[in-house]
Amino acid sequence: MGSPRRFRGTGPADFAAGKAASLPIVPGWDSFSIPDYFKEHFGDVPVLVENDVNIMAFGEHRVNWPDCEHFLFVKIGTGIGCGIVVGGGIRRGARGAAGDIGHIRISGHDEAVCRCGNVACVEAVAGGWALARQLTSAGVPAGDARDVVALVRAGNPVASRLVRTTGELVGEVLSGSVNFFNPGVIIIGGDPALAHEQLFAGIRSVVYQRSLPLATRHLQLVPSELGDRAGIFGAAMMVAEHVLRPDTIEAMVSDGRKGPSPIS
Ligand SMILES: [Zn+2]
Repeated sequence: MGSPRRFRGTGPADFAAGKAASLPIVPGWDSFSIPDYFKEHFGDVPVLVENDVNIMAFGEHRVNWPDCEHFLFVKIGTGIGCGIVVGGGIRRGARGAAGDIGHIRISGHDEAVCRCGNVACVEAVAGGWALARQLTSAGVPAGDARDVVALVRAGNPVASRLVRTTGELVGEVLSGSVNFFNPGVIIIGGDPALAHEQLFAGIRSVVYQRSLPLATRHLQLVPSELGDRAGIFGAAMMVAEHVLRPDTIEAMVSDGRKGPSPIS
């Protein structure tokens, strides 16, 4: 088995089988068996498979919002994805595609072709790659979302306006999520979230205008506190909770094993 190609962006996975799902946006990963790859190198060890935004959501929830029953973590990166934590557990949907909000259609952008092959997906206009492309075509060279954030911080008015507009587009999608799901907390993470003021001005203006008052009365819509570390915290918490699960310990005791059994 060869080494996997570098993974860029949020991608769904077949969690039960531990395989990356088929996707045009992550070529080379279709049905790649992540547990088999690690077992080839480390033997018969437990392998937990999760995608980036879910694990970031889990970390942010456990560290900063452990009592929140209805929790969303939105990552604006190369693409746009949302991790859902309900009752303390990650919710992935029937086949692992829950929270894939980057491909929700937004109004007035039918000219924007998305990497998924559709048009007018929110990430085709507001994802990191789309922001960099729009800035560059406006005469302000930018390679990725971090370049955009650096330009905002340096006071570039074109970049600042673009990030605020991005917030409004993300807010359009999130207002639907707020009406549908009624979360208590929504965290915004990813590189563009580092440009807090402009991004949140856009998001909040639309979410509070378009969502039902009852759904926003106690809603907290805030930036990620963990930032780049959210995924690391999430991974650590996930492993710890798996190892310390009562049924895992029960199985170890009854089998006399030295470690927990693989889940996949
Ligand atoms: Zn799309």
